Amino acid sequence: PFQRNATIVVFGASGDLAKKKIFPTLFTLYCLGSLPQNIKIIGYARTQIEPDEFQKRVSAHFKTTDKTRPKILPFLQLISYISGQYDTDEGYIELKRSIVKHEDTVGSSPSSRYRLLYLAVPPTVFVTVAVQSKKHLYPPLNEGQARLVVEKPFGRNTSTSNELQEYLKAQWAESEIYRIDHYLGKEMVKNILLLRFGNVFLNAAHNKEHISNIQIVFKEQMSTEGRGGYFDDMGIIRDVMQNHLMQVLCLMTMERPVSTSSEDVRDEKVKILRAIKPITLDDVVLGQYGRSENSSKSPPKPAYTDDQTVPDTSRSLTYAAVRLFIGNERWDGVPIILRAGKALDESKVEIRVQYKAAPRGMYYDLPRNELVIRIQPNESIYLKINNKLPGYSEDITVTDLDLTYNQRYPNIPIPDAYEALLRDCLSGNPANFVRADELELAWKVFSPLLDEIDQNENIKPEIYPHGSEGPKSVNQFLRDKGDYKSTMTEKDI
Ligand code: NAP
Repeated sequence: PFQRNATIVVFGASGDLAKKKIFPTLFTLYCLGSLPQNIKIIGYARTQIEPDEFQKRVSAHFKTTDKTRPKILPFLQLISYISGQYDTDEGYIELKRSIVKHEDTVGSSPSSRYRLLYLAVPPTVFVTVAVQSKKHLYPPLNEGQARLVVEKPFGRNTSTSNELQEYLKAQWAESEIYRIDHYLGKEMVKNILLLRFGNVFLNAAHNKEHISNIQIVFKEQMSTEGRGGYFDDMGIIRDVMQNHLMQVLCLMTMERPVSTSSEDVRDEKVKILRAIKPITLDDVVLGQYGRSENSSKSPPKPAYTDDQTVPDTSRSLTYAAVRLFIGNERWDGVPIILRAGKALDESKVEIRVQYKAAPRGMYYDLPRNELVIRIQPNESIYLKINNKLPGYSEDITVTDLDLTYNQRYPNIPIPDAYEALLRDCLSGNPANFVRADELELAWKVFSPLLDEIDQNENIKPEIYPHGSEGPKSVNQFLRDKGDYKSTMTEKDI
């Protein structure tokens, strides 16, 4: 049940995430009736902003319809803004005053008071805000609860991440920290466990005896233009793979949890992360986009290093394909390939589970079955099967058993990932947030590889044209190292 008396404090409320995601999502939840009954939302940042201006700013990105437009004003009444520093006490004292005033006005029982503190600030101030919030905004014993919401990046390798966690741990209990990985809020990602463990036939074949390889693929047309500065220090493995794709991998490969409770699910994820073998340079293809190939129709699109904020000599990765092996009874020997890239030919996130070939004899060289779970865009699940062409023909075709969401569920809107996660934050459900041990182990998988790439200047990414499929060597890598055999059906295009 939702806390009946909640205060949300958004630190960094003058910033990009607050404007584009947090406030618009809160508005959507308000329209859906999914916010607690008595709620106050306080934006906090250093910038001086007049109340009118702040309201204009946060409402600029609201998604509205004729039905929800009249709700903008009442929603804005719930919001206020306080300007203050992150590292001194004054601002927090004012914040506390404002929170307590709201809680007292509502007059609810102290135990139902809930303070959600959302850190939408750069990682350099995470710890300062976490420490100051604990000092000033943590409710007295038996007078409610507080939760801290933290956004990525959680460090840039094992040691920096552990250092950050140590500081957080000194102030906040693990159960009070909600680390956001927004992939865990995506509809299709939330469906994986039911799909696997609620369908006997899929579960029975979900192992090394039947599966040849699994791919988890993130493709983005967008380049890094404009945010090259941030990206250059991170690269695609830290930005997308170590967090989002690893979460998907865990859900796709973990054993059946005892229950759907957050701790049971996260316990199984941790076991998978511990069973992943170290990645070597032999297991990767690394890429960076160059200028697009010549076209008579449009001017060439820039190379990664054309960005003013990126050094000309940058070796930062905008593409990576990584092969992993899980050393356990279910997955031993099955290559699992994570692929992620920017400035590619299309935008798509999907999971491909490719089964082993049917035995030869009665039939020869039938195409392999493949289960595809499309996370975005256009959520769908399809299974490639071999089927006799109808009629007198004896020809065999590959076709899809197709569950495309917008056809099967045309009237059910799919919530945005942040919507789902903020709802979880408000209802106190940590299942779709990253636990400290998961985070540490996910870094452990990638840190040695990342350190080696950082330190060895002879490791240079393969340049691929902006707007292409990625580095040329990837297809061969998938065939030779991933045992992948492509079978295209209509649904793949
Ligand atoms: P941002 O716009 O750069 O920063 C948010 C606010 O923090 C700024 O408005 C600024 O407010 C304050 N700030 C900026 N630099 C600071 C500094 N050096 N020291 C102290 N305060 C500073 O960041 P954002 O894009 O909103 O992202 C917030 C957090 O979410 C970051 O940790 C980011 O990595 C994470 N994140 C963002 C996105 C996204 O889509 N934007 C996606 C995933 C994760 P004042 O100067 O007014 O105090």
